[in-house]
Amino acid sequence: MKIALLALQGDFAEHEAAFRAAGAETLQLRRKQDLDLAFDGLVLPGGESTVQGKLLHELEMFDPLRERIREGLPVFATCAGLILLAERLMDDPTVHLGTLNAVVRRNAYGRQLGSFFHSGTFAGMENIPMSFIRAPQIEFCSPACQVLAEHGGRITALRQGNQLAMTFHPELETDCRAAAWFLREIVSPCKGL
Ligand code: GLN
Repeated sequence: MKIALLALQGDFAEHEAAFRAAGAETLQLRRKQDLDLAFDGLVLPGGESTVQGKLLHELEMFDPLRERIREGLPVFATCAGLILLAERLMDDPTVHLGTLNAVVRRNAYGRQLGSFFHSGTFAGMENIPMSFIRAPQIEFCSPACQVLAEHGGRITALRQGNQLAMTFHPELETDCRAAAWFLREIVSPCKGL
């Protein structure tokens, strides 16, 4: 299985390491032509969603990527990646890809609790490392979304069909179970494996 990492900005290298540890081959998407390469899934890494959205447009990667996601390309999105997918942002008219039926609030934990670590349950797997770094919160998601993780009474990870999105980073520790789950539960069935 080949996983493509959006490698314009953010922590794509950490995701790449996690997916390799989970047994996938990887490649990096840096320019429009890279979208012609064959891949089975896409990682939208954490970082700065405003910068990533701007670069996607400048590099003319925005429309083709949105089309691929709409057509069912499996996506693994963390933090800024979730913001890129969200259909609406709270108190912000910006919409990026808008393929995920969820409303998201950027930098929602405020300055005091801007970044913190928590070890929690994701998709029934316990003690998954979850780093929240200027993390967003999911304010609303459609009933079509499957909740995969919660923290402090809030949804922190969800799946809507081919899209898996989380407010935290599971890739910053040497634990690749979230990546392995995505490969097993979303990418493999999409490939008919
Ligand atoms: N706060 C960032 C944003 O709005 C996301 C932070 C992250 O990806 N860790 O894009």
